[in-house]
Amino acid sequence: MKIAVVGAGLTGLKAAKELSEYASVVVFEPEDIGGLVASYEGVEKFYHHCFRDDDFLLEEIKRSGLNSKLVWRIAKTGFAANGKIYPLNTPFEILRYPLLTFGEKIRLARFTLKSRKLNYENFDDIGVIEGIRRELGEGLLERFFMPLLRSKFGENAEEVSYAWLLGRVAIRSNRKYSGEEIGYIRHGFQQLVDKMAEGLEIRKERARIRKNAKWEVNGEQFDAVIYTAPLPELGELGEKLGISEIRYQSSVCALVGAEETLTENIYWTNIVDRMSFGAVIEHTNFMLYEDYGIHLIYLASYSTPDGYLFNLSDKEIERLFLSDLKKLGFNTDSIKWMKIFKAKYSGPIYERGYRRKITPYRVADGFYIAGMTSRPNYPERSMNGSVRAGYEVAEQVKKDFL
Ligand SMILES: Cc1cc2nc3c(=O)[nH]c(=O)nc-3n(C[C@H](O)[C@H](O)[C@H](O)COP(=O)(O)OP(=O)(O)OC[C@H]3O[C@@H](n4cnc5c(N)ncnc54)[C@H](O)[C@@H]3O)c2cc1C
Repeated sequence: MKIAVVGAGLTGLKAAKELSEYASVVVFEPEDIGGLVASYEGVEKFYHHCFRDDDFLLEEIKRSGLNSKLVWRIAKTGFAANGKIYPLNTPFEILRYPLLTFGEKIRLARFTLKSRKLNYENFDDIGVIEGIRRELGEGLLERFFMPLLRSKFGENAEEVSYAWLLGRVAIRSNRKYSGEEIGYIRHGFQQLVDKMAEGLEIRKERARIRKNAKWEVNGEQFDAVIYTAPLPELGELGEKLGISEIRYQSSVCALVGAEETLTENIYWTNIVDRMSFGAVIEHTNFMLYEDYGIHLIYLASYSTPDGYLFNLSDKEIERLFLSDLKKLGFNTDSIKWMKIFKAKYSGPIYERGYRRKITPYRVADGFYIAGMTSRPNYPERSMNGSVRAGYEVAEQVKKDFL
């Protein structure tokens, strides 16, 4: 049996690895292997960390012999407002945070507890703005949730469903007293990608798929195709197969090497004021500075493939980012280099009604879809969700063919 896997991100690599024992598998990938988790000179182009409950991902790390390199730390978070940065981790810091009233803080705590018990599927057709305004009021919406939503969805923040927010709060509310513990493979997730790719036949080609008697990829016949690339890339074939139209967001991210840090020990700072980036992620406030010899700071922003920010040149983005870094009080003279990375399709927009569009694994005889639009990647697309989707689609193929 011959199987084509389209895309060598975590989903494609996992599916290919699971099936290569039983079939002849060819992976098609025109870019660097690893997809969104791929690295630039040993550092992820886009900030990445994992969580304690990432069962499929952690199992894969173990199998790849990288367990001893997995580091867990409490990641400090903060909010930047009116040119000041407020750490927001311990109950004491939260109590002292001046942008929310005491009443709002209590309402927020109650909401977090309540969201764990709600069946969030019932809220899929309600917009996030409407839901928060109704449940929590204008103050929490403007001064707490909008900055978070902007850091996650950028220009698309207002289109997200309330179900997404409830699901997200529910999975992320098991925090420790002093903050959330997150994990990282010392020296980078690329090591995992490389291990997963070992022994696979990977062709550096963009896949062009056609349906004949069998499935044809770049002129070669296959019994089955597992498609893990972004859905819009399917073009007409997607329409023919009746695949739901899913809107994607794009990422615009700067990786900065600097001699100074923005904050002393905060990993993730959400930006409350409107700026060209929604979050600052200080990698070397989490991982060892000594591993790099320079402070590594990500400036994260989301746009859409036809959005304003995504279509600016790297130079223009750099200028915007530098000017906003200055407003945060950062000494931009300490910057040694800045590299801009863009991903056109970096995740689905979890807009109203999204849950009905989640793709099944088998969409036609011999044609499978897995990845960021699969069930394990809702309400949060993640490395874990993609490894799991890769595993589950391989199980489906085995059931159908073997
Ligand atoms: C800014 C950012 C930060 C993130 N941070 C985290 C984090 O901290 N923790 C976490 O768990 N997750 C994080 N993620 C999510 C995580 O990176 C993804 O969910 C996961 O890597 C997706 O893997 P995938 O294989 O499903 O998709 P992708 O990685 O998108 O892989 C799809 C592959 O298909 C290829 N492709 C496209 N078109 C074709 C074609 N025609 N033919 C062949 N190949 C094609 C692409 O080049 C790509 O390599 C982050 C994502 C982003 C964008």
